[in-house]
Amino acid sequence: MKFGGTSVADGKKLRHVAELVKSYHENGNQIVVVTSALGGVTDAILEEAHEASKEGKVSRVKEFIADLTKQHHAATHESVGDNASTEDIIAELDARIEEIEKALTGICYLGELTLRSIDYLSSYGERMAAPILSGLIRSLGIESSHFTGGESYKKQIRFSIHDYYMATPGLGVMITYAPPCTPLIILPIAADSIQEVTNMPIDPICKREVPPDTPYTSYHEGRTYYFHDTECKKKFDDMAKNIVRVKRSLEDKKKISFGRLRKDIIKPGICAACGACAASCPSIIMEGEKPKLVGPCTACGICYNQCPRTITTEEGLVGSIRHPYAARSALKGVKGQDGGVVTSLLAYALEEGLLDCAIVTVKSEDDPWRPVPVIATTYDEIMESAGSIYTHSMTIQALMNAVLQGMRSIAFVGPPCNIDAVYKIYKSPYGLLHMFMRANIFPLGLFCMDTFSHEGIEEFVASKHLGLEDIESMKIWRGKIELEKGSETFVYDLSELDPYRSSSCKYCTDLTARHAAISFGGVGTPDGWTTVFTRSGRGYEIFHEAVEMGYIESRDLEEKEMARVLNLARMKKVQKYGIIRREK
Ligand SMILES: Cc1cc2nc3c(=O)[nH]c(=O)nc-3n(C[C@H](O)[C@H](O)[C@H](O)COP(=O)(O)OP(=O)(O)OC[C@H]3O[C@@H](n4cnc5c(N)ncnc54)[C@H](O)[C@@H]3O)c2cc1C
Ligand code: SF4
Ligand code: SF4
Ligand code: SF4
Repeated sequence: MKFGGTSVADGKKLRHVAELVKSYHENGNQIVVVTSALGGVTDAILEEAHEASKEGKVSRVKEFIADLTKQHHAATHESVGDNASTEDIIAELDARIEEIEKALTGICYLGELTLRSIDYLSSYGERMAAPILSGLIRSLGIESSHFTGGESYKKQIRFSIHDYYMATPGLGVMITYAPPCTPLIILPIAADSIQEVTNMPIDPICKREVPPDTPYTSYHEGRTYYFHDTECKKKFDDMAKNIVRVKRSLEDKKKISFGRLRKDIIKPGICAACGACAASCPSIIMEGEKPKLVGPCTACGICYNQCPRTITTEEGLVGSIRHPYAARSALKGVKGQDGGVVTSLLAYALEEGLLDCAIVTVKSEDDPWRPVPVIATTYDEIMESAGSIYTHSMTIQALMNAVLQGMRSIAFVGPPCNIDAVYKIYKSPYGLLHMFMRANIFPLGLFCMDTFSHEGIEEFVASKHLGLEDIESMKIWRGKIELEKGSETFVYDLSELDPYRSSSCKYCTDLTARHAAISFGGVGTPDGWTTVFTRSGRGYEIFHEAVEMGYIESRDLEEKEMARVLNLARMKKVQKYGIIRREK
């Protein structure tokens, strides 16, 4: 008996399957049951893997894992009810889900999705369906156990694996095998688990053992694959090409699939049910007030781009830009966070006499890594201020002091929220405008995703048996935090800092400081470079002068580098959708 996706879509349907199996078993039949994953699970895992390889956002993986857990727990409660088996099933599901989380997190960090990872993840939908179905059958009074593919090999149940793959080419299947008068055996099969227990290479297409000296081999992403015949090799080569193409297309900002509309708009509940997506694509229907994909998606992006709730234009995501660059300091000894461009630009402007001072942020001498906003008036003070401190710095107070001290040309460095404060001072007739009319402020914005409380960072560092006073540099990127102490670098998952994240940052939607004269960030460009957006005419001129005068080296930002910034900017905008709900 073979049960595909729709017949095991949820708890109710699983129960129906189990009852059917029971009735056949009671009639003395010899049964092999093959089952798929719960509804949409395999697709969702693979989609998430693609997103993880592209965006590298661990927090997003966590959200996905929470949904996956909810779906499987709900199916268990719905089908098995609350009895003795339920707890065991849930424990097993949680262990499987943890493995998926680890794999997806790894993909986030590596930024690539290999065939082997796809293969590995493909089987997990079935590996989770297996314990539920097995427990459910047990709860109906029939002895039943489930095994991994590797375990099944050890138990010599080879024929069922082979037969299944002969019948259904593809990965990630689960077999329920029930000879008469014996317990049901449920087998989730994955190619890698088979390889664990055999010395012979396995053809990834037909799953048969192949002699290592087979003439049919392919080399893909650092690994040699062995094939049974030319046909298998051709299938694999086509698939490998396809994966490379899919990866490229995912990087292409124009290729956006329905999955993204579902994730950003439909799932968080901000779809306005206007029906525009369904009207423009035969693969989408409105099911009640919800758009649903019912046919193939070519990732043309039309539904996403025309949805009234998405933000898709470059200007909508990062504000208006005069020109984007990749840049780095051309000065000796600048220890910048990324390319040291902010520091070098300030150094140029100060030495050129364009500035009276700059409002920058340095580390407290008494309390290491506590941010202290200061008025820098010398080259050395500017140099000392290089580097990022991932905590709110009260920069406006220092700016106010500078104005009160009679400074007239002031550069101001801060993340988007600080730049917005300056912007508002100039825009609001009810604010401090009269005071700030006395000074000319040059706002330099830092890209920003989050900040963390000083005490939180301190606690986190202490939990790693380190002291903040010994940490020379701190860098947050690609979902990790890197701490440098002498010649050692300690790397941790950024999600470990979640409890200390500033709550205000959850509500913030501006990544790139759209109201700055120039914005600077690390995302997009390689290590040691800064992404620079010149925005105002003044910003453009001064940046170019600093380049011409040999303070900064620069080149145009490449399209793929810009795409990375746009992706992160989009992520910051949509993350808020999941948080904000209008109160009744
Ligand atoms: C809290 C925070 C979060 C950030 N998040 C991201 C991000 O998610 N993605 C990304 O691409 N870039 C982010 N950045 C920007 C990035 O870290 C670099 O500041 C930027 O790329 C410029 O690098 P640079 O080497 O040219 O700057 P540098 O030459 O090193 O100059 C950095 C300047 O920033 C000032 N500064 C440091 N900490 C603060 C602070 N807390 N408040 C105000 N000013 C400060 C310094 O005084 C100095 O003037 C963040 C920066 C901060 C401060
Ligand atoms: S276009 Fe957007 S808002 Fe309109 S129905 Fe589709 S998802 Fe919902
Ligand atoms: S409009 Fe394009 S991206 Fe959207 S569902 Fe249809 S084919 Fe997919
Ligand atoms: S995320 Fe927003 S609120 Fe938080 S520090 Fe950055 S700019 Fe300010």
